[in-house]
Amino acid sequence: MIPRKRTVKPTDSAADFIPPRPTLSKLRAAAKGCRGCHLYKLGTQTVFGEGPAHARVMVVGEQPGDAEDKAGRPFVGPSGKLLDRAFEEGGIDRDDVYVTNAVKHFKWAKDARSERRIHKTPNAGEIRACFPWLEAEIALVKPEVIVCLGATAAKALLGRTFSVMKSRGVAVKSEWAPAVFATVHPSAVLRAPREDRARAEAQFIADMKKVGRYIAKAKPAAQRAAKRTAAPARRFSAWPTTAARSPTSRASTQSSRK
Ligand code: SF4
Repeated sequence: MIPRKRTVKPTDSAADFIPPRPTLSKLRAAAKGCRGCHLYKLGTQTVFGEGPAHARVMVVGEQPGDAEDKAGRPFVGPSGKLLDRAFEEGGIDRDDVYVTNAVKHFKWAKDARSERRIHKTPNAGEIRACFPWLEAEIALVKPEVIVCLGATAAKALLGRTFSVMKSRGVAVKSEWAPAVFATVHPSAVLRAPREDRARAEAQFIADMKKVGRYIAKAKPAAQRAAKRTAAPARRFSAWPTTAARSPTSRASTQSSRK
């Protein structure tokens, strides 16, 4: 039985829960008690990112789904299975991928005709409140490539005007990583009408192949290690509280098709 949660007024930002001198394990532990927004009351538990501490690839989804909320782990449901297959076909080593979400609690509403929990898209305030966790994960992992799955993750990192459908599979330079790719969320592929499903899956896998080719061409491990050592520590702060922190300004306007 899931214990009842004590209701506490949300603070409006996960930044209030980031521990000093964070490590991934410290962040994971602290995130369990996050009350940065009201979603802590809806989800069963915080679903924090997982993967190697210095993964070359970081995949950012929208939020945990029903299966992830119950398991407490990201991408363990049907979307995760499709993602694993896309990694394999794209030549991306699954053991070199850190997976996480822009929002760490499951937002849902009860289905009117059943006991099912229906996914609800997080709003801008919830994404903003949760952003410090993602920012801290990126700062620690320092991935060479970030792959945004769906509009929520893409807009969180590349700006609110970024269009996944116009720019999917394109490497965008940003302060978050040398290359940020965006593609659709695997759940969108799974929800596609039967007649469109095969095409949607093929496009998703084609996008992952672009990521795989980028990684294959990227710098060898020794150079990456030197870069990590030299990289300055980031500040952990809320996004975007002012226009100056709009992620639109972070993404380079120079992008290249790979
Ligand atoms: S969704 Fe994010 S900010 Fe909101 S309570 Fe959960 S971890 Fe904290």
